[in-house]
Amino acid sequence: MEKNKGSKTDKWGVWMQRLLESLVEKHRPAAREGKLAEYIPELAKQDSRLLGMAVVDRAGKMHTAGAYRDRFTLQSISKLIALMIALMDHGEEKVFSKVGMEPTGDPFHSIYKLEIAREAKPLNPMINAGAIAVSSLIQGGSVEERVERILHLVREMADNPGIDINRSVYQSERDTADRNRALAYFLKGSGVIDDVEETLDVYFRQCSICVDCRDLARMGLCLAQNGISLRGKRVIPGDIARLAKTFMVTCGMYNASGEFAIRVGIPAKSGVSGGIMALVPGRMGIGVFGPALDKKGNSITGVRLLEDFSKKLGLSIF
Ligand code: GLU
Repeated sequence: MEKNKGSKTDKWGVWMQRLLESLVEKHRPAAREGKLAEYIPELAKQDSRLLGMAVVDRAGKMHTAGAYRDRFTLQSISKLIALMIALMDHGEEKVFSKVGMEPTGDPFHSIYKLEIAREAKPLNPMINAGAIAVSSLIQGGSVEERVERILHLVREMADNPGIDINRSVYQSERDTADRNRALAYFLKGSGVIDDVEETLDVYFRQCSICVDCRDLARMGLCLAQNGISLRGKRVIPGDIARLAKTFMVTCGMYNASGEFAIRVGIPAKSGVSGGIMALVPGRMGIGVFGPALDKKGNSITGVRLLEDFSKKLGLSIF
């Protein structure tokens, strides 16, 4: 990289690096105002003070700061991956006969709308009920085969064949998932899914896929490029990548998606581990990790960091 020394791109790189480091320092203290996802015992063991960020551009230039090497599980971010596979397997008509497309003002694990709606169809694939319905659609001869297909797509999007499942988180969630089990039985009772235990097993395992901020940034970039990975390989059909990004905007940040669209203005999907995968269409992928959560289940420091970053660079897509 000698020949770039002093060039415009190099100065931009240095500026960007300093920006990320200063933003992480500035927002890390707000972790005190948040709480870990204690309903999954293994997630309650995370260090709530961590905050990390990675940003990758189309040329593969990666900028990182803070706890960007720390590993965490995808949790709800996996809902997006599972949705894309279900759409590849069955097409839109079948998938959206089982799950809706509308945002909800209710918490992600709410059962309330399932009971009062005329049709017991979950409102969208980003809430737990909808994601469980989607996981039931992923094809494969066994739970292992179905999960392997999800892992394969995550590895391709992240350009990282080493990505795997964190078994302690998987077991922890499986052993304490009364609420998700209740949702799944309700869905079975309404004819949305067939096999509760198999479906939940796929769902718990996909939630336990373990990544770091750089993986999330590369996955975000793959969606930013409409399904083409950093290495230039098409791993998701363009129309499905577009659909996934639309869900990120309308439902990606749980029942705070409206506020996030106004304040930050870029497609993003969060998980209760504190991860957020975000992107700027055609430009960059972003991975953030800060395990202290706000009341709606989003990383409290991660959201503030992204808001500041988006405003400084004028990234809103609106
Ligand atoms: N595995 C978590 C659950 O089902 C995912 C929730 C989330 O990240 O929003 O509760």
